[in-house]
Amino acid sequence: MGSVQIVTTILAAAITAVAVWLAVRAVLKMVAVIRLGQPAPERFTDKVTRARTMLVETAGHTRMLKWGVVGAAHWFVMVGFIVLSLLVLEAYFEVVTTDGGLPIIGHWTIFGLVTEIIGVLGLVGILVLMAIRLRNRPTRPGGRSRFTGSTMWQGYFVEWIVLLVLIFGFVIRGFKVATDHFEFPFWATPVSHAVGAVLPDWADGVSVAAAIKIIISMTWLIVISLNVTMGVAWHRFLAFPNIFFKREPAKPAGSGLGALRPMTSQGKPLDFEEADPEKDQFGVAHVEQFSWKGLLDFSTCTECGRCQSQCPAWNTGKPLSPKLLVLSLRDHAYAKAPYLLAGGGKDLTGEEKATQAQLAHLDVLALAEADKPLIGTAEEGGVIDPDVLWSCTTCGACVEQCPVDIEHVDHIVDMRRYQVLIESSFPSEAGVMLRNLENKGNPWGAPQNTREDWTKGLDFEVPRVGEVDDFEYLFWVGCAGAFEDRAKKTTRAVATLLNEAGVKFAILGEGETCSGDPARRIGNEFVFQMLAQQNVETLNEAFEGRDKAKRKIVATCPHCFNTLGNEYGQLGGEFEVVHHTQLLAHLVASGKLTPVQPVDGGVTYHDPCYLGRHNRIFAAPREVLGDAIAGDLTEMPRNSERSFCCGAGGARMWMEEKIGKRINVDRVEEAMATGAKTVAVGCPFCSTMLNDGVNGKGAGEQVEVIDVASVLLRSVKPEQPQGAKDTAPIGG
Ligand code: SF4
Ligand code: SF4
Repeated sequence: MGSVQIVTTILAAAITAVAVWLAVRAVLKMVAVIRLGQPAPERFTDKVTRARTMLVETAGHTRMLKWGVVGAAHWFVMVGFIVLSLLVLEAYFEVVTTDGGLPIIGHWTIFGLVTEIIGVLGLVGILVLMAIRLRNRPTRPGGRSRFTGSTMWQGYFVEWIVLLVLIFGFVIRGFKVATDHFEFPFWATPVSHAVGAVLPDWADGVSVAAAIKIIISMTWLIVISLNVTMGVAWHRFLAFPNIFFKREPAKPAGSGLGALRPMTSQGKPLDFEEADPEKDQFGVAHVEQFSWKGLLDFSTCTECGRCQSQCPAWNTGKPLSPKLLVLSLRDHAYAKAPYLLAGGGKDLTGEEKATQAQLAHLDVLALAEADKPLIGTAEEGGVIDPDVLWSCTTCGACVEQCPVDIEHVDHIVDMRRYQVLIESSFPSEAGVMLRNLENKGNPWGAPQNTREDWTKGLDFEVPRVGEVDDFEYLFWVGCAGAFEDRAKKTTRAVATLLNEAGVKFAILGEGETCSGDPARRIGNEFVFQMLAQQNVETLNEAFEGRDKAKRKIVATCPHCFNTLGNEYGQLGGEFEVVHHTQLLAHLVASGKLTPVQPVDGGVTYHDPCYLGRHNRIFAAPREVLGDAIAGDLTEMPRNSERSFCCGAGGARMWMEEKIGKRINVDRVEEAMATGAKTVAVGCPFCSTMLNDGVNGKGAGEQVEVIDVASVLLRSVKPEQPQGAKDTAPIGG
């Protein structure tokens, strides 16, 4: 060992010791913060599926690859990070001696070949990612960037480190070539040989370059260890457990979509017949009341901004960005952690848990952070502004896009639950809807005895459950389908088509009440459980004696469809629920319905969030339209998984939209830009929002918004009177 090697070895050892010590400290801190969260025992079930999903999503980059170029570039960088870690390890041998290398595999030509290929692809990948970040930097002229609000220096820092580590990998090899210490043939390592051809024959070059590579790598480790909220770096490690512990590991995408997480206290679902707000946690009032998985979610955010780029609230000028929401919660959790770890915190009656002595030596900043209300305006020093919380439509675009499976919607609704149930703090206009749900069983407050009015004038009898036993489908009409004028036309169209196809169906009529979706999404779990339990009882009675496969329900409203099919199981109601577009597609495919006259004029289709993203039903409505219309369906630029919300979900239907551009107007402009004369929908709320948008633009005479079922009915029974064009306002 020469004098150069003595210096490089000491330098490498010293910086590595410091970095490892800081990294261990950082990991312990993160684990301590994440453990502050509430229990989540359900995250430990089905470990085999969890492990398989984690491997598929990480090794296969199944979520990332939805963004083709970025996904591919990131894959090479990820593989480069894992495989080329071996070369960082090898550098520790190279600082000691110029011809050092990894024992055993370090001499295999296949090792030389694989690391060469991955090194080159990693270089290309990181250069692509750097170019994309620069091109989308928030400061660029014009337009909002998905990186707005991300900590840009951290992204640049990580990318430059990766680039330099890759470059120095080739420099080390180049010096080995130049000094004739390189054992791999030209065909396996052409780039290394090319670099060697331009480097001098400097004997100590290998050790010096290896020391620089170690210093760069350890500088990265030191910086990220001193910044535990640096998700852009830490996600390399945290993404694995975050995906492993996701809510529904069997779901290929959007684990946090479909059903909402039940309201829990100490990890157990709350039953409102026994719940006590002085003993049980109602929603989330403090950051430590999220589950540990919530805190892991916040720690894992990469700040990539995919969620932000798709969010309808953010894209129409509202203050909500799912990324910024997650980052605010993360920063607050870590800033408050010293206080919590010292024993601080409020019990359920609002009393401080820690003694004076426990808090005596705490940093004043941690104490100040602990005083911040989780939900509050800027003047109140709140972590999340109420306008942010109430802007969410629960459309799920953020969950769908997130490459590390963060479950934004669950977290947002958990915070809403506390605001509604304990603070009674929510947009006042939604109060009427909640009162109507409690008193009348529907959001509009329509009399229950008018639930069957939609059947009047039909030229066939609509049977009620109880009057007939041999029905195959229970037709769940829904409140909109029973009381809202436009939706009633859809209900009548579906009933007519089912009758035409000879499907035996029956309705609950006055026995039906609201599914509870708007109550649950606004955060009123009490009203949701009240309505849902009533419906589960009614439905269980209607299907008495049948096994699950024969407890079939068809629903026209995707919100009811989602609630009945995905959430009633949480309350003991197991049913086979289909959306009407699925049943109609099946009836057309099996020849029970025959479209005879194609509907022309150009048709586009708007995917309802709770049918598409939340339940992944994209094909059925398109199949129905494909059979019913002339020519091909004209797709909007944002369709299917990336469809843009109409603005009504998350109980936003019953709240005023006071900030920014109206979401429905944004969507209608996109639909009208296709030139289609018909905008087909599969949801009564989308129908209302898009109709309002079209009428607001004064285009009611040129563009018609109608349900897929009505399009099919026009094609199957062109002689059927279709009624006046749908321009009716909401009303009973
Ligand atoms: S659910 Fe939709 S509206 Fe809510 S934060 Fe996510 S993308 Fe935005
Ligand atoms: S998509 Fe996920 S990882 Fe990316 S910024 Fe949003 S929450 Fe963070």
